[in-house]
Amino acid sequence: MKKVLITGAAGFLGSHLCDRFIKEGYYVIGMDNLITGNMDNIAHLMPLPTFEFYHHDVTKYVHIPGELHYILHFASPASPIDYLKKPIQTLKVGSLGTHNLLGLALAKKARILVASTSEIYGDPNVHPQSEEYWGNVNCVGPRGVYDEAKRFQEAITMAYHNIHHVETRIVRIFNTYGPRMRLDDGRALPAFMSQALEGKDITVFGDGSQTRSFCYVADLVDGIYRLLLSDYALPMNVGNPVEITIKQFAEEIIALTGTDQKIVYKPLPQDDPKQRCPDITKAKSILGWQPKVDRAEGLRITYQYFKEKLGK
Ligand code: UDP
Repeated sequence: MKKVLITGAAGFLGSHLCDRFIKEGYYVIGMDNLITGNMDNIAHLMPLPTFEFYHHDVTKYVHIPGELHYILHFASPASPIDYLKKPIQTLKVGSLGTHNLLGLALAKKARILVASTSEIYGDPNVHPQSEEYWGNVNCVGPRGVYDEAKRFQEAITMAYHNIHHVETRIVRIFNTYGPRMRLDDGRALPAFMSQALEGKDITVFGDGSQTRSFCYVADLVDGIYRLLLSDYALPMNVGNPVEITIKQFAEEIIALTGTDQKIVYKPLPQDDPKQRCPDITKAKSILGWQPKVDRAEGLRITYQYFKEKLGK
């Protein structure tokens, strides 16, 4: 049985990855320090004989006894309000945490996939964003702690690949949504859905003309799974290329939830990217991957989850 270590296992993406690897017949070690993760996300896995949980901070030395075949590094605060509140932890988990896990991969001869992000493109001047675009990041702006940690992560991962011949994979993840997002993580979808359910105004930042491209979590996990098992070591975008303005997105959620609440406009946060859309040519041709779940279906499933969470 192949053994996989998943860091950030109690988080949104980490917990869905744990589910997928368990389903595929792997032995999964989930690791999390629980600063933004929640054990509820993996409670259903805890009784399984093929799942183990380590409460550990990956910025400290990581010890795993015995053999290890794969590592997926998904530990990090990932929503803008989380990394604004925890800037130093964000920088450390992307840099020191990645270094520890690359060292572990080298020692165990394990293949490692690291979670990078569309944030490495910053507020992009090129649209849509292909992997060749170098980005437009304000390193000392409020988002710089996340963006630069992830840019460092990509650099050190490629260095371990080139110098130590570690089998590395880098996924650049674009906006993703689905069940197990935190209601209070401040991102557009949980904010809009919880506001609709709690009878509060829908807060659109700026004039709502900024764009995002939202990928349903099961599609994203499938892209990551395929990338891990591929032999492609350069960074790869995985995301849904259907682009929408944030105002349209808010309107879709108002229609879906049937709320009487209205949109109110709040100031646009500093360095908020004006547009974001992945070029997924590489994922299509190299992984044979593209998203399957359209937004209407993904939003319905996610709304069910938020309704249950809020007891509505
Ligand atoms: N946003 C918004 N209202 C909210 C939360 C977010 O209008 O209550 C906007 C935010 O300014 C950004 C977009 O929605 O332009 C997506 O934000 P999110 O935090 O979900 O992710 P980002 O893509 O910025 O990392």
